[in-house]
Amino acid sequence: MRGSILTYGEKLDELREIIVRTIAPEKIPLLLEELAGTDWQALALPLQIYWQKCIFCQTSFRLTKPPWTKLYCSLCATDAFKREVSRVATQCTRARCFDHQATLTIKEWLETLDYFERKCAYCGDPFSDMDHFIPITQQGGTTKDNCIPTCHRCNALKDNLHPNEVTRLPRKDIERVANYLSSKRAPDLSDLAEHL
Ligand SMILES: [Zn+2]
Ligand SMILES: [Zn+2]
Repeated sequence: MRGSILTYGEKLDELREIIVRTIAPEKIPLLLEELAGTDWQALALPLQIYWQKCIFCQTSFRLTKPPWTKLYCSLCATDAFKREVSRVATQCTRARCFDHQATLTIKEWLETLDYFERKCAYCGDPFSDMDHFIPITQQGGTTKDNCIPTCHRCNALKDNLHPNEVTRLPRKDIERVANYLSSKRAPDLSDLAEHL
């Protein structure tokens, strides 16, 4: 049995044990935010570890410092993967500059890449670019229903035009891509009403 006189450090340890036992790990970042700048700040430091499940390999990995939003483990963080992470971030920033929607997540983009087998959505060559089907300059956003992988060549042939105005790519390829993208769109309520 423990003596009745606990040191400050022992009291902190006791409190930490209680917190770890009773709080869901994903809530700990919130708690840390609440504690920051209060007298209870000293509690926070050893609590700054929590487990996250990698969105790719599903293994759990430890988050020990901010940002608390990391979604993938270090094994999955290959150069190719990091390139896509920064591509999505750059294109979201670009869309935001135009005040357009910028909701594409890395997970959604990788799903799109998987769907097109990392090839150009138009011609099937290896992809190198992210194409906005409706160009950003024409109100297109960086969203899962507007972004597809393309090669340099097709991206240049498409030339920042609205899909309806593109003449240098086969119409059937444009339509195929349009169909894919509309399958990604959340059902429109007015469409729904037509089917009722
Ligand atoms: Zn992983
Ligand atoms: Zn192509």
